[in-house]
Amino acid sequence: MRLRNIPGSREEIAANPYAIKEEPAEGVEVCIRLHKMGDKKSDEGGRLVLGDWKVKGHWDEVFGNSNPIRIEIGMGKGAFIMEQARRNPDMNFVGIEKYSSVLLRALQKQDEEQLPNIRFIRMDAEYINDVFAEGEVDRIYLNFSDPWPKAKTAKRRLTSHQYLDRYDKILKVDGIVEFKTDNVDLFDFSLEEIEASKWNLIAVTRDLHADAAMNEGNIMTEYETKFSALGQKICKLIINR
Ligand code: SAM
Repeated sequence: MRLRNIPGSREEIAANPYAIKEEPAEGVEVCIRLHKMGDKKSDEGGRLVLGDWKVKGHWDEVFGNSNPIRIEIGMGKGAFIMEQARRNPDMNFVGIEKYSSVLLRALQKQDEEQLPNIRFIRMDAEYINDVFAEGEVDRIYLNFSDPWPKAKTAKRRLTSHQYLDRYDKILKVDGIVEFKTDNVDLFDFSLEEIEASKWNLIAVTRDLHADAAMNEGNIMTEYETKFSALGQKICKLIINR
């Protein structure tokens, strides 16, 4: 999945109208910090974001309407979030992905389709609170997030309490987080983090495709297609607070 170092991928992203461009916007300190993070990493960096506008708190202007905003963090090549956008023209979607070489695949597809209700950001989700204002997001999708199996890297898991706190700030009062994975250890960890937090578990299954109610309207992600073809069960949980 991580097709790093595709020559020209950054340039192509910079030129794409559906990617939030990397031009620093006036007064946007996040840009500086993300550039610093990029300095620490040798490959894809963490540079990102921002357009000709300061996006945080201004997504209505980005989309030209005030429809609910749903985001996927770690979208990979973007099949899931693009299908969401196709099925739900009255909602807005933002796909977030750390690696430009993967994100590029979504942008190429978007070039063909030109869906009006989707944008993409290349960024590390650690900085999500610099991109969305309090209550600006309606729903967060986490699909087959990286497991970070070593205990010392647990805070990087997208369902760690550190990330749950970040989501708490940007989600609407009645907003929800949906998480799917084939990784049982990551799923168990996520349930423990939720149990110890202010979040409520509103639905859970350890075999999504056999659970008619939870599977209704399910959009398969690229990893979901791959793992379920190998006979692996898909776990899913939904939380609110
Ligand atoms: N969601 C897709 C799917 O289900 O097919 C891709 C799953 S892939 C295992 C995880 C993706 O999340 C990778 O593309 C990775 O680069 C991205 N990712 C991991 N950590 C991230 C982070 N902190 N911020 C943004 N993207 C991240």
